[in-house]
Amino acid sequence: MTLIPPKEVRPPLPRGPFLVVGLARSGQAAARLLAARGERVRAVDSGHPDGAEGLSGWGVEVVLDTDGLAQLEGTHTVVKSPGVPREAPVIAAALEREIDVIGELELAWRALPNRFLAVTGTNGKTTTVELLGHIFRGAGEPVAVAGNVGVPVAGLVGEVDPEATIVCEASSFQLEDTTLFSPEGAVFLNLAPDHLDRHGDLPAYLDAKLRVFANQGNDDVAVWNGDDPELAGVDLGGCARRVEFCRGASPDCEVAAAQGTIFWDGEPLLATSELGIPGEHNVENAMAAAAAALTMGIDPDAVRAGLRSFGGVPHRLEPVAEIEGVRFVNDSKATNVASAAVGIGSFDRGVHAILGGSDKGEPFAPLLAPLAERAAAVYLIGDTADRMATELAPLADSGVAMIRAEDFDDAVRRAAAAAAPGEVVLLSPACASYDAFPNFEARGERFRQIVAELGVENG
Ligand code: ADP
Repeated sequence: MTLIPPKEVRPPLPRGPFLVVGLARSGQAAARLLAARGERVRAVDSGHPDGAEGLSGWGVEVVLDTDGLAQLEGTHTVVKSPGVPREAPVIAAALEREIDVIGELELAWRALPNRFLAVTGTNGKTTTVELLGHIFRGAGEPVAVAGNVGVPVAGLVGEVDPEATIVCEASSFQLEDTTLFSPEGAVFLNLAPDHLDRHGDLPAYLDAKLRVFANQGNDDVAVWNGDDPELAGVDLGGCARRVEFCRGASPDCEVAAAQGTIFWDGEPLLATSELGIPGEHNVENAMAAAAAALTMGIDPDAVRAGLRSFGGVPHRLEPVAEIEGVRFVNDSKATNVASAAVGIGSFDRGVHAILGGSDKGEPFAPLLAPLAERAAAVYLIGDTADRMATELAPLADSGVAMIRAEDFDDAVRRAAAAAAPGEVVLLSPACASYDAFPNFEARGERFRQIVAELGVENG
């Protein structure tokens, strides 16, 4: 097995002194990376995230609860965390003064000699990254997975075998701060409205995501979704070999799904029923992962074996329990309308859908069709409950009950009480969780906990 070799030369790190802005996980990892190289580093955050103070032990000058404007003095390069918007005063001021602003992904990539495989898209990044990690490991190739699950890419510097392939999630927030980032493999899964509060509009969001391909060279691979209407006719940019995946028998698609089979170069690879992860959207993630792994040089047998044995990622359509014939499924990571629509669409009928949370301003109408077809009832919670009640009101015509729950626990309990054997209680909320939980993981954990209690109550 010969994999695409990693590029031999990386651009040098930018010049210090550095100011790291935003000190959650990736900002902390970036500050440590720089400090470990003997750079002068200041680090600021407008709040006081866990662990940030510990950076002083690395010789980093840490200032918390600040806008960071004072710390910009004497800074040569700003390292911006993905959570910090470009409009933040310190970033706006840096850009105005023509101080270089780069992101943690760019910085870490420049500091690592490894082969990179970056995955972007509105939905499915974590699943696809974990699936690729699983395929590489199964093929006996050293691999490190970075992103939302596990460590940020900067945390791998000095830790990872230089031979390992780094498979990383590249969100639009990370990509918007890249300048020369050039992964050997890049995957663009899909584009749906999300994060428009940060990017402004869909074209700006698309532009950020396309940066994953922008600097790729002839020896690199660019995998993209030929079925995504938002990508149709778009110039993907860069010079990489294009590898399209799609449904149907288009001759342009190197990886295609048709008649229940995933094909590679016209030859059957495996039946979709053999995939270890459920739902049509996971067929897409599997095609994307197969396309990337195969074209980067992993043996088809190993790809097939990995696709068969991958069991999925927690909080993404995760089967939690079956109690008296009712299935409980935790899809807490469905934090936008597109991902909830595919979550709901993964079940035939009898779905008791728990919906709602904090409001990103996305319209909920795209949920009407999958809910009308598959839901028995919806249980509304959180900040979006009122807006959902209005926008989903037409569901009454399809006989879907709409219940305003008091809170999250009440919604889960009412759904469980109403569901009949053969039906599904699905947490696929279409919204972020911040109105009631620290994050989507905590929401999913609470779901599991309530379901476990119900299991005990039902003996
Ligand atoms: P990301 O890391 O991009 O947020 P995840 O793999 O964590 O993606 O999945 C997030 C949510 O999106 C889950 O609810 C999952 O069921 C749904 N999802 C996963 N893959 C896709 C896809 N290809 N298209 C649409 N939705 C998807």
